[in-house]
Amino acid sequence: MKVAIVTGATRGIGRQTAIDLAENGYNVVINYTHSDDAALEVKAICDKYNEALIVKADVSKMEEASMLVDKTLEKYGRIDLLINNAGITKDNLILRMTGADFESVINVNLVGTFNMCKTVSKVLFKQRSGSIINIASVVGETGNLGQANYAASKGGVIALTKTLAKELGLRGIRVNAIAPGYIDTDMTKVLSDDVKNGILNNIPLKRFGSPKDVSNLAVFLASDNASYITGQIINVCGGMVI
Ligand code: NAP
Repeated sequence: MKVAIVTGATRGIGRQTAIDLAENGYNVVINYTHSDDAALEVKAICDKYNEALIVKADVSKMEEASMLVDKTLEKYGRIDLLINNAGITKDNLILRMTGADFESVINVNLVGTFNMCKTVSKVLFKQRSGSIINIASVVGETGNLGQANYAASKGGVIALTKTLAKELGLRGIRVNAIAPGYIDTDMTKVLSDDVKNGILNNIPLKRFGSPKDVSNLAVFLASDNASYITGQIINVCGGMVI
């Protein structure tokens, strides 16, 4: 049975992706840092299909990322898929953005993705198989007002994805990124109605995305149907960025 680690799997896109992967035959490792109850709820859903594991770990810390991988190997003995989904925002215009807020967003979104990619790559390299999907963002391609930290982190994730696709391809390991636009989750709920309406005006499909819109692509990219796709950044944004 295939094994997938999904970071940040207790809410939003990560939660839906974990559930969809379980439904598609994966044993899923559900990672998070805060709510044990939320993790147990996702595990209960995944357990209907296969046996899931929950691991509390802050991916921005290398020792905790390594512990997450060790616990996965202890339980299942292999890893077939890593989805780097954990992410945070701390928005502000550059003149008001503190160094601490810049650093913490880079640490979770970019350093966390690096920590997981580095640790899991060792396992995939030995297996000579597996795939990595990084959740980036369209703002990593376009930039965005008030998101210097977040856009820089996601631009970094895009560059990391392309580089790892080149480094790991010779062992048959694929690395891709999904760049969502505006997806309805806790992360975007905090935006004002004015900001939301402004965004909606620029979306040709005239609706916000759902976690399912993103997880559908993740399941496809993880599958053998995507076996000749690597190093690609695929937007799921209703046409917001064309
Ligand atoms: P969300 O609803 O806020 O969920 C984020 C998840 O990440 C939670 O499960 C959270 O759990 C976990 N997390 C946060 N920091 C973590 C850490 N250091 N280590 C491990 N887990 C951590 O976010 P979302 O909207 O689903 O976003 C998921 C991903 O998609 C993010 O990378 C985000 O940047 C990206 N994205 C989202 C949108 C959007 O419109 N929503 C657009 C583009 C890209 P805990 O709080 O328990 O840690």
